[in-house]
Amino acid sequence: MNPKLTSICDICISRGLDPQDYDNKVIQDVAQVMLYGFLGKRTSSNQWKDREFLVKSDVRKRYEGFIQDYDGNEVALQQVKRSDFNEAIIASEDGEVNYVPGNNVDFAINMEKLGVPVDFSLNEVDYIDRERVRRKYNYRCQYCGRKGKSVDHKNPVSLSHDNSMDNLILSCSECNRIKSNMPYDLFIKLNNQLTNVNKKLVKYEDTLSNLKEQFQQAKRNLAAQVHLKGVVSDPELNAMRKQNKKLQDAIDSLESDYDALRQLRKSYFDNSWKLSQEDNSEII
Ligand SMILES: [Zn+2]
Repeated sequence: MNPKLTSICDICISRGLDPQDYDNKVIQDVAQVMLYGFLGKRTSSNQWKDREFLVKSDVRKRYEGFIQDYDGNEVALQQVKRSDFNEAIIASEDGEVNYVPGNNVDFAINMEKLGVPVDFSLNEVDYIDRERVRRKYNYRCQYCGRKGKSVDHKNPVSLSHDNSMDNLILSCSECNRIKSNMPYDLFIKLNNQLTNVNKKLVKYEDTLSNLKEQFQQAKRNLAAQVHLKGVVSDPELNAMRKQNKKLQDAIDSLESDYDALRQLRKSYFDNSWKLSQEDNSEII
């Protein structure tokens, strides 16, 4: 299997873990949509051997433009799940739906013809309101406290139809992604249990952003010194390089701790939600 079609990251692959043990339907769909033109090789082990992978490049561009439109459209993102959107694209690419999204066609019409309609009148929070919400919350995610700019509905607009300021809140893209999959009340309950983790995440984000700024400055200083001295190597420059390397190592190590904590937090949400679903199904 193509490693890109799994939920395993490059680092885990480097560890020698087998991507086949970690396949993931959603990732597979995304990868299939994104890589459609590049998967050409068909082998007996290829599970999509019956499908046609090669889409002519001009058609490919139309899909890619359309996928980008979807990714950048907050209204569509809220109303049509990524997995449903991907299924729609795949159906179109496979010819199951006789329609290819057009470049010069209105986004809403493309969505509708692909069988994933969006009701734009439901959910339009205009640009000024979005900016107002961002300023109100000082560009900070109200769930974890890190920087954020996703304007989010507390109660899903598809149910509440509520675009009032009281129902709008600011979120970071990470919390937004985690929350999108689960009921709001459960998300809040779980998030309240993670106050200390969230505080740490804020600290990581702030420290990393400071260190990265320092690092950029140090690199600029080094470049300026090389330029001034007119030589590439001398003791002073080498000392600066050593210092920069230390800074880079510190950033790498902090970043890896930060990622681990983010991953842990996400797993906590995912697993708790899974458990709560299992509880509910037992009651039924
Ligand atoms: Zn957040």
